[in-house]
Amino acid sequence: MSAAIIDGRAIAATIRSELKVEVGEMQQAHGRIPGLAAVLVGERKDSQTYVRMKKKACAEVGIRSFGRNLPADISQEDLLSEVRALNENPGVHGILVQLPLPDHIDDEEILGAISLEKDVDGFHPLNIGRLSMKRRDPLFVPCTPKGCIELLDRSGVAIEGKQAVVLGRSNIVGLPVAMLLLHRNATLTVCHSRTADLPEVVRGADILIAAVGRAEMVRGDWLKPGVVVIDVGVNAVDDNSTEKGYRLVGDVAFDEAIEVAAAITPVPGGVGPMTIAMLLRNTVDSARRAFSG
Ligand code: NAP
Repeated sequence: MSAAIIDGRAIAATIRSELKVEVGEMQQAHGRIPGLAAVLVGERKDSQTYVRMKKKACAEVGIRSFGRNLPADISQEDLLSEVRALNENPGVHGILVQLPLPDHIDDEEILGAISLEKDVDGFHPLNIGRLSMKRRDPLFVPCTPKGCIELLDRSGVAIEGKQAVVLGRSNIVGLPVAMLLLHRNATLTVCHSRTADLPEVVRGADILIAAVGRAEMVRGDWLKPGVVVIDVGVNAVDDNSTEKGYRLVGDVAFDEAIEVAAAITPVPGGVGPMTIAMLLRNTVDSARRAFSG
């Protein structure tokens, strides 16, 4: 068997073109467009790249970007003031604080200060809390987990009644994606670093979401034939044949999995582009709520 490739780049491009139409319609109807503010603290190259990619995607669909590049030694109080100012700005419908923040910053307090109505990353404890409860819709669902479900939906993969295994239980990926699968009536198993006999647990999966950050940890013989694999992991491994001296791989050994799975996301080009597409989706939804009062 050779798995179908779930092409996150193509699906994300489709979503961006849908959003572009929606933004145009909003401008016609309300004379206003959605706005997204990215708060970047410090000089981390990877964070700068992520913020640049997010701004580029905003421009493509017609969302206005507000940028705040702040020094790495900013105080907790000054960073809080920046977030509060963006909360008050009526042109801003979404605020994202690029993580990780410098060590001296209490990120829990910063993320908790983002207005619930502008929490497009979906990391506010109230949004996560609502996500974890039955019939309590959060205003925003975190982007990477939301992107995983969107990939399944747009690939025609049924979730209800399936055995779903989530590898990882982080606040930003594992935990929220597990909640989303449960809401969609999957039967759920969540694995982590203390899970006993991981390969055997993974072999039970009809749908596998891998979010551990361990290069190619999941081998082909861990997989049930016909499983659908969503690989969230992004791991750099040395590769002298490339210009950069490394390449990116997922948490799943792609070349082995493709022989067993029914469908699989590549790394890169699977979940990554969807994360940004869902950030735009959340921003447009937020603006729609604001414009309709
Ligand atoms: P994280 O916070 O480090 O969490 C990793 C999770 O994996 C933890 O729950 C940990 O268990 C578990 N784990 C670690 N080693 C394990 C092992 N050997 N066996 C079983 N479970 C193990 O990572 P994260 O932020 O969720 O990110 C996970 C991966 O997704 C990373 O590669 C990251 O780069 C990638 N990511 C990609 C995107 C995207 O847009 N494509 C977005 C976010 C993250 P414990 O809880 O027991 O420690």
